[in-house]
Amino acid sequence: MSIFESFGLRKVINASGKMTALGASAVSNEVAEALKQASQDYVDIEEMMEYSGKAIAEYTGAEDGCPTCGAAAGIAISTAAIITGKNLTLIERMPDSEGLRNEIIIQKGHQVHFGANIGQMVRIGGGKVIEVGSANKVEADHIEQAITDKTAALLYVKSHHAVQKGMQTIETMMNIAQKHNIPFIIDAAAEEDFKMYIKIGADIVIYSGGKALEGPTSGFICGKKELMEACRKQYKGIGRPMKVGKEGVAGLLTALKQYASLEDNAEDQIERMTQLNQSLEEVEGLTCSIKQDEAGRAIYRAQIEVNADKTGMSAQELLNRLETGNPAIFLRHHYVNIGILSVDPRPLLKGQEAIIANTIKSILREG
Ligand SMILES: *Cc1c(COP(=O)(O)O)cnc(C)c1O
Repeated sequence: MSIFESFGLRKVINASGKMTALGASAVSNEVAEALKQASQDYVDIEEMMEYSGKAIAEYTGAEDGCPTCGAAAGIAISTAAIITGKNLTLIERMPDSEGLRNEIIIQKGHQVHFGANIGQMVRIGGGKVIEVGSANKVEADHIEQAITDKTAALLYVKSHHAVQKGMQTIETMMNIAQKHNIPFIIDAAAEEDFKMYIKIGADIVIYSGGKALEGPTSGFICGKKELMEACRKQYKGIGRPMKVGKEGVAGLLTALKQYASLEDNAEDQIERMTQLNQSLEEVEGLTCSIKQDEAGRAIYRAQIEVNADKTGMSAQELLNRLETGNPAIFLRHHYVNIGILSVDPRPLLKGQEAIIANTIKSILREG
């Protein structure tokens, strides 16, 4: 019996993605062991935080880093760090940033909800959100003309949650930031490349530890040395109610260490999803295919198109039945309104694709 079942909670099969709402990632034995060992011992936290900065730097190519309890905390802490620097009095004053250089410029199509609202995370860090342009159209002038002597940073959100069309690119926004000598932050929470944004010149890049990294509930910030020192100092201020513990840090660093050796499992994903599709295509009214991630990541999902006239059940109804069953099966449902469900192979444990196929078939058979 799993720990969650021992609490009386339903067994969950996650075919949806690295979702906070479903517990983000299931970590490797190596990471689990790091969590266990760290939780049963003591450490000088300040020394651990400094060491972590160096370790994060090594894995990302950045000058320095700062562990966090998640990417959302990373946004708040980075914002505060830019506003206060290492000034302890200002650090203790946050999120009250009245009179300080506190404006964070963000493109309107990037002002998204990832489970919470990006702008709120900026405000928690004392930032004032300056949204520019429209939800589907932002011009470089919108960004450049919003810059004032109150501008603290420009924030770019690299995410499938963000509007992909009509926004200015990372390069354009970064050039504007550099031209005005303003820090450029990238929220790359779920991205798989832990080096490229530092390499192209971002001052601060924020990641989640529980998404692509497959680490525990954690995250990290990497970037310029002065800024990272200011980030770590925020744990004496707004960082305190979002502190990351010794276990989280140990798990995070172990996940970073093993990330380079995680093999590219695209072939395995495709094979598992092909089998699932073959099994489902026996059902009249289901059309299955394999689709690569819309944001271009190396994720190959099974896409199931439900023809409700033939199956007698809409995609939405099928989704509801799967989610409320036991085990509860969660599929990806961004396109459920047009009759499409997808299965994300990454979070699936061994053999779960067969359980999904059989459950879908039996739900449709029973009607
Ligand atoms: C998930 C996500 C976050 C928050 O990450 P946590 O590690 O859960 O705090 C922030 N920004 C974006 C774009 C995300 O996708």
